Amino acid sequence: MSRPVLFVIDDDAGVVRALRDDLGRRFGKDFRVIGASSPAAGLAMLCQLAGQREPVALLIVDHDLNEMSGVGFLARAHKLHPQAKRVLLVERDYSARSPVVRAMTLGEADYHLTKPWMLEQDLYREISAFLAEWAKDQQAGFELFHVIGLARDRGTHELRELLTRFSVPFRFDSADGEQGRRLLDDQGLDASRLPVMVRHDGYTMVDPAPAQVIAAVGGSVSSDVDECDVVIVGAGPAGLTAAVYAASEGLQTVVLEETVSGGQAGSSPMIRNYPGFPHGISGHELTRRACEQAWMFGAHMVFSQPTAGLTRLGDGCVVHLAHGRQIAADAVIVASGIAWRRLGVPRLEALIGSGVFYGAAGSEARAMEGRDVYVVGAGNSAGQSALFLAWYARRVTMLVRGDNLARSMSDYLTREIEVTSNITVRLHTEVTDGHGSDHLESLTLHDRLHDRTEQVPAAALFVLIGGEPRTQWLPEAIQLNGGYILTGRDVVRDGAQWPLDRPPLPLETSMPGVFAAGDARYRSIKRVASAVGDGATAVRLAHEYLAAAHAADLSLLSRG
Ligand SMILES: Cc1cc2nc3c(=O)[nH]c(=O)nc-3n(C[C@H](O)[C@H](O)[C@H](O)COP(=O)(O)OP(=O)(O)OC[C@H]3O[C@@H](n4cnc5c(N)ncnc54)[C@H](O)[C@@H]3O)c2cc1C
Repeated sequence: MSRPVLFVIDDDAGVVRALRDDLGRRFGKDFRVIGASSPAAGLAMLCQLAGQREPVALLIVDHDLNEMSGVGFLARAHKLHPQAKRVLLVERDYSARSPVVRAMTLGEADYHLTKPWMLEQDLYREISAFLAEWAKDQQAGFELFHVIGLARDRGTHELRELLTRFSVPFRFDSADGEQGRRLLDDQGLDASRLPVMVRHDGYTMVDPAPAQVIAAVGGSVSSDVDECDVVIVGAGPAGLTAAVYAASEGLQTVVLEETVSGGQAGSSPMIRNYPGFPHGISGHELTRRACEQAWMFGAHMVFSQPTAGLTRLGDGCVVHLAHGRQIAADAVIVASGIAWRRLGVPRLEALIGSGVFYGAAGSEARAMEGRDVYVVGAGNSAGQSALFLAWYARRVTMLVRGDNLARSMSDYLTREIEVTSNITVRLHTEVTDGHGSDHLESLTLHDRLHDRTEQVPAAALFVLIGGEPRTQWLPEAIQLNGGYILTGRDVVRDGAQWPLDRPPLPLETSMPGVFAAGDARYRSIKRVASAVGDGATAVRLAHEYLAAAHAADLSLLSRG
């Protein structure tokens, strides 16, 4: 196969030449760098490449030329090469008027480059990062696992989701396809029990439980310590950050996570407002890195391990695991987040994973190519999911109970939705039923304004309607408000509700030495960056708590 193409276009032939030469020097061994300086010549080249099925990795398009060519050169080029990453080439202009600001907001470009460029600092570093993202979207070269199942089967969906969340390269083959049947035959199995998972070394699991899958990919599912300095419950952004800080500062740290790491953020396809990532970062990638960082600092990461309770014992705490074990800790950080609210329609609940998905479209989005899909919700996560799905689906319909989107969604998202031609917003509308025996086929929608009901064909339904804090497992001694954990000045200190003379530290709950961080905390901001801030702050406060407890112990000893 020929080398993938880096395509450059600018109306200044000198810029094209310079860029071609600079890119060729660094990337020429693996990529073909070609360029043009007029829209007509550029489109002719790209048409020819498309006709010959030659892959294009990057479309680097000068902004002025992009505007010059009417419809937008980048959009037309991307239609011909939808796998290519779109890079806008602009003059240095850090004002809000820069064309990059609009292009990124409206999703018209993936990245930008500024001219003139510095070779090592701007060009090579940036292009390498763009190419790494492009390569990730291509077919994986090495598959650690083969999954054989049925795309519409719930167990198969859950297994694929789990492997995706764990960043495990795998290949999926349908059990009713030729390759799938052959693989089952090779293992002496049939399609009566699915999904089947075959590791590269031949180790095979039939309908595996999550803990088995996690163990097979090298994750820990049980803690090898019974006592530690700090236990962190939950491995979303708040818990992972707490783990990075606690472990890096020398605390013996155990993280207990009910499923796999990432939390809500881990299912977000693109987080655009996390500081330091001007082109955005996938929530999965962000949390995967944090998890690896925590592990490298020595945190004990334990997955598939729900925490069922917490008791105070002397100066410390005992954390009770759902499977019966206990871990003693001097301090605890609760970062258990929130769970999605449910639609409460029984037939749709039965189709979860078989066309009905709670949370953002992640691994499913590609499968929606050319389909009509629906998104329920009016918050930012619903908006982001609709925009992500619109890349693949033929039509995305947003179902909104209220009378507008602006009340609950950020302005940049509503504007992007307005200009995305394959997204329709239906206001005053709710889903009242779902149909399909083994997978979703259609939905019943109720127009609340006109009291009209209709049935519409639907390939998938994505539900993003907010959630409930995951704090039911906490003891009564931990004060809650609407399920959210009270901390610091919000803790009620009357009578026996707070046992100490000093007031609670800022993120400390009504149980001394137990801190809350992230979405589960009362008055939290429900953003990744604020969860991260909470996680880091909670560790600082845990240090303060531990130092005070240690000092009190010493003074008792010296008096004794
Ligand atoms: C689809 C989507 C898109 C989003 N997009 C953005 C965005 O673009 N920008 C932004 O800033 N924010 C975004 N958010 C919000 C952001 O993801 C959350 O604010 C953030 O994840 C909160 O982090 P957390 O660690 O507090 O909780 P969570 O991420 O919810 O993590 C909590 C973890 O605790 C675990 N857990 C719960 N109970 C237990 C238990 N009993 N035992 C052990 N483990 C337990 C859960 O399994 C989970 O992994 C988005 C959210 C969603 C859902």
